[in-house]
Amino acid sequence: MPSVAVYPEPIMLLTQTEPVACPLGCGAMLAADTDAGSMVKHLSDAHEPLTNPPRTRALLCPCPGCTNKYEPQQREEWRTRTFARHLVQDHLDIVSYKCPAEGCSYKNKRSDEVNKHIKGKCYVNGVGIAEAV
Ligand SMILES: [Zn+2]
Ligand SMILES: [Zn+2]
Ligand SMILES: [Zn+2]
Repeated sequence: MPSVAVYPEPIMLLTQTEPVACPLGCGAMLAADTDAGSMVKHLSDAHEPLTNPPRTRALLCPCPGCTNKYEPQQREEWRTRTFARHLVQDHLDIVSYKCPAEGCSYKNKRSDEVNKHIKGKCYVNGVGIAEAV
């Protein structure tokens, strides 16, 4: 049985450390942080009907054109936290991702692009090209 290569994850970076406006448009300014702590707190305090809909309904991302959805069977806190992280990573321009290979400075706003770069450029079968040489 061939073993499945495990590739390293992109490194998440904050591109902005200044407070950012709430993406739900309420005007609140929130600390920029990748684990979305202040966003989680704000969403559950100020946007409770949205982030904690009745158990029978899915939580839908309200951002235009976004199809992200969080099913009702998922736990409340988990839903709010995952939703907050989604807002920070996908709807606020404050996060980017970096290739973890030593000496490589490749960065992109999208983690899937960095994953593609990791698998196609800097790592072969999960082993760093620089380390393998
Ligand atoms: Zn808000
Ligand atoms: Zn969204
Ligand atoms: Zn790289």
